[in-house]
Amino acid sequence: MAHILIAEDDELLRDAVSAQLMQAGHTVAAAAHGLQARGFLESTRFDGVILDLGLPKLDGMDVLRWIRQRVLALPVLILTARDGVDDRVNGLNAGADDYLTKPFIMAELQARLAAMLRRSRMPAFGGSLELASLGAARLRVDAQQPRAWLGDDEMELTQREWSLLSLLVANAGQVVSREDVLGAWQAEPGEGGGVASNALEVYVHRLRRKLTDSGLGIRNVRGLGYLLETNSP
Ligand code: CA
Repeated sequence: MAHILIAEDDELLRDAVSAQLMQAGHTVAAAAHGLQARGFLESTRFDGVILDLGLPKLDGMDVLRWIRQRVLALPVLILTARDGVDDRVNGLNAGADDYLTKPFIMAELQARLAAMLRRSRMPAFGGSLELASLGAARLRVDAQQPRAWLGDDEMELTQREWSLLSLLVANAGQVVSREDVLGAWQAEPGEGGGVASNALEVYVHRLRRKLTDSGLGIRNVRGLGYLLETNSP
C-alpha cells in the first residue's frame, strides 16, 4: 500500500484513476490543478505521484521541476498527450521516472505505478533514499549504513559526514538546525558525542567539497542551520 498523489484536471479521468488506485489498496489525494498539487506536496509525504503535464494554474512541468528542485526522492509518473513527444522528452529530462500517453488503460497504469514503486524500494538501494537532481549526478544515500553514491561512484564519507548528509537528504528543501545535527551525532553509538558546535562548520565544509560537481550545495542559513539544495545552473 502506498500514498499516491494524482494531479489531473480532467475530472472523469481523475476520479477513475483515484477509484482504481483505492481498489488496489492505495490511499489517494486528488488535485485538480497544479497549485493544489503543490499544496498537497508541501504538506504531505507521498510514495508516488501521477502527474498530468497539462494542468491549469500551475503547469505539470512546473510542478515536476518544483519537485526535483526540492530534491524530493519521489517517484513521478507523467501523463502526456499521444502526440506530445516533446512533452515526454522534456518530462523525462526534468526528472520524471516514467510516462504514460493518453488514452491509457487502467491495467497499464497500475502495472507502471507498481513497477515504479518497486524500483524506488529495490533491495539494491537497501532502504536508501534516492535523490534526482536536475542536470547533475544522482545522489543516493543508504539510510542504514554509512554509504552514499554520486552516480556510480561511491563517496568516501566518515560516519559523521554520512550522518550529516542523511539528515540533509531526509529534510531536503528544509533547514536542518545545528542542534538537529549535533543531536544525531550524540545519538551515534561509539562516537562519544561531545562535538563542539564550531566543529560542525568543518564537517559541513568537507561535505560541501565532496559534493562539488554533484549539482547539490549546502547553504548556510544564518542563525537557523543548513539547507541542501540544487545549485542554480
Ligand atoms: Ca490536462
